[in-house]
This record gives sequence, C-alpha cells and structure tokens, in this order.
Amino acid sequence: EVAGPRLRAALEDIPAYLPGRPAAARADGRAVYKLSSNENPYPPLPGVLEAAVGAAGAFNRYPDLAAGELLAELSGHFGVPVSHLATGTGSVGVAQQLLQATAGPGDEVVYAWRSFEAYPIITQISGATSVRVPLTAGEEHDLDAMADAVTDRTRLVFVCTPNNPTGTAIGHAALSRFLDRVPSDVLVVIDEAYREFVRDDAAADGLALYRDRPNVCVLRTFSKAYGLAGLRVGFAVAHEPVAAALRKTAVPFGVSQIAQNAAIASLRAEPALLERVAALVTERTRVADALREQGWPVPDSQANFVWLRLGADTARFAAACEEAGVTVRPFAGEGVRITVAEPEANDVVLATAAAFRTSAQ
Ligand code: PMP
Repeated sequence: EVAGPRLRAALEDIPAYLPGRPAAARADGRAVYKLSSNENPYPPLPGVLEAAVGAAGAFNRYPDLAAGELLAELSGHFGVPVSHLATGTGSVGVAQQLLQATAGPGDEVVYAWRSFEAYPIITQISGATSVRVPLTAGEEHDLDAMADAVTDRTRLVFVCTPNNPTGTAIGHAALSRFLDRVPSDVLVVIDEAYREFVRDDAAADGLALYRDRPNVCVLRTFSKAYGLAGLRVGFAVAHEPVAAALRKTAVPFGVSQIAQNAAIASLRAEPALLERVAALVTERTRVADALREQGWPVPDSQANFVWLRLGADTARFAAACEEAGVTVRPFAGEGVRITVAEPEANDVVLATAAAFRTSAQ
C-alpha cells in the first residue's frame, strides 16, 4: 500500500463545521422555513442585486485585492481610518486569519462556551489549545472567569457579543473592565456578527472600545443584518499592526468583486436594510415574549435568534420543529437555537413550542 501524504496530527479529531440544515420540501406542499443558520430571511434589495450582477460580467478578472472602494466606504460609514480596516472571506475567515497571525502550538486561545462553534475548530487548525470558560447560569459570558483563564500562554481571546447561540449581549462597562484586566499583549477579538440587532443601550460597543486599545479587534459581517451570507464578506476594525497582519494572512483575492460591490451597495442602502432589521427585532420581541408566556425560560436575546435550553429534550424538540416545517439548530443535550425570521415562520415555531410544552406536562 502506498502511504498518503503526512497530514498534521492536529487535524485528526477536528469536528466538521456543520452548516445549518436546509429545510426539506414537504410532500403536502406546506411552507418550510430554514431557521438554522441565523440568516436574513429577506431576499436581496433590487439595488444590491444589481450591483452584484453588474460585477458578474467581469468575473474573468481578479477582484480588487485591497478592496479599496469598500474600505473607503466602510471608513466613511464607521468613522475609522482605512488603515484600521481589513476585509476577509466572511468574518469567520477574518477570525481564522487572526489566529494565524497570533497563535500556534503551545499557545492558548480563551473563549466562552458555549459560543460560536467555529472558535474551537479554527483554534485547533492553528495548532493552539482551546481554553473554554463556561457561560454563567444566565447564559452570559463569565468575564471574571475568562480574565482568570488568561495566562502567559494566552495569545487570543474571543468575546462574542451578542453571543451565538444564547443571544446575550455583554454590557459596555463590564467589557471595558474586562479589557482593562487582559494584558495588552493579548489580542482580544470582539465578535459582533449580530451588532445591528442590538437594542440594549447598555450593551458593549466594540467600535468605541477598540479606539484606545491596540490589542482589541472588532469583527463585523455583511452576512446577517446586511443579508449577504452567500457572498462571504466580513471585516475587522483594529489598530494598524493588527490590520496589517490581516492583510498579510489574507487569502489573495478572497473577497470577490461581486461581494465587494454588493457590500458597498448595502452600505449605501443601509436605511432600507435597517428597516428590515427593525422588523426582525420586533419579531424577536414577539417571539421571546410569547415563549416566556408559554413558560419557557428565554434569555434576553439581542441578536436575530432565540435560545431554548432543553437539555435531554433537545433532539425531540428539534424533531417536532422539523415535523412542523421549520429547521432549527440543535446542540445535542444542550438546547436549540432558533433564528427569528418572517412572522409566518415564527408563528410555526410558537405553535410547535406551545404544543411541545403541553405534551411534556
Ligand atoms: N461570528 C458569529 C458569532 C457567527 O454566529 C457567525 C455566523 N454564524 C460568524 C461569526 C461568521 O459569519 P460570516 O463568516 O458569514 O461573516
């Protein structure tokens, strides 16, 4: 037998990144809804679609390597210098670049758990060791325990706010105090993938926190509020050395011109997109309130999803949703994360949750 190539041992037990399951068509023709990936349920705005299609006619050419026009637009939009910005292939791509830039074998990466499932995967790929700090009983980051978990070996800390999958947001003052406790040579990544859905005025604002902290990097994405999940554009805001490291670790041409143009058009169409975000936030309140009325303990979500801690009932609840035509995201033995989408989809969730509670009692 011919030996295959030697692959790094670190890759052996890496779990696969699981995409949210698609909603399977039903024999009875009833509507099905995919609520498993925190996507935006609204189709592209006509102007954004036009911008994307406009770029498609030239895809025999490489995109703008530096994403100059997009960075200029982001710079004006967020009031940060272009030199503090870097784009990447989704914010998960940027997160992976940050690990490449900071951590390797023997190093530690600290994050709350449960949180975004890509953190353990990309940490393991880097060769570094994950240090997971359990969420509090209230499903929030335990910032004191996280600060205590930082050692001489820590190179990067992920802070996810609002947290996927629990939806909980970290308070601004609390995050500021946490940052004061972390040594300034440790990179703290504030993952704000769901920032546009936040309505709690006391919630942390990464863009305000990064300004006088060279070791803080804010991650944002066009995938959620802006509805460009399929185009793969994320970006980071950080001081120059970190932004420069992101330019070095980028996969060349990793953000297509179609994606860049759609992102620029999205920023210009922000008022219309934020109206959609506002509608989803209204639905989030309706869903969370109705679930609480049914007796479910629902943590306060500042994102476009809600979290139900179901423990041993997780698989059964996910199956009941599937049966009703909605695909949710189960985390075995822990709970389900349900994306908030259009009212009809949310109604199916509420009816299913009510029936499940009745049958469980
Ligand atoms: N961060 C968090 C917390 C997320 O939930 C997600 C998407 N599930 C991402 C980052 C990655 O999003 P994208 O790569 O599409 O920008």
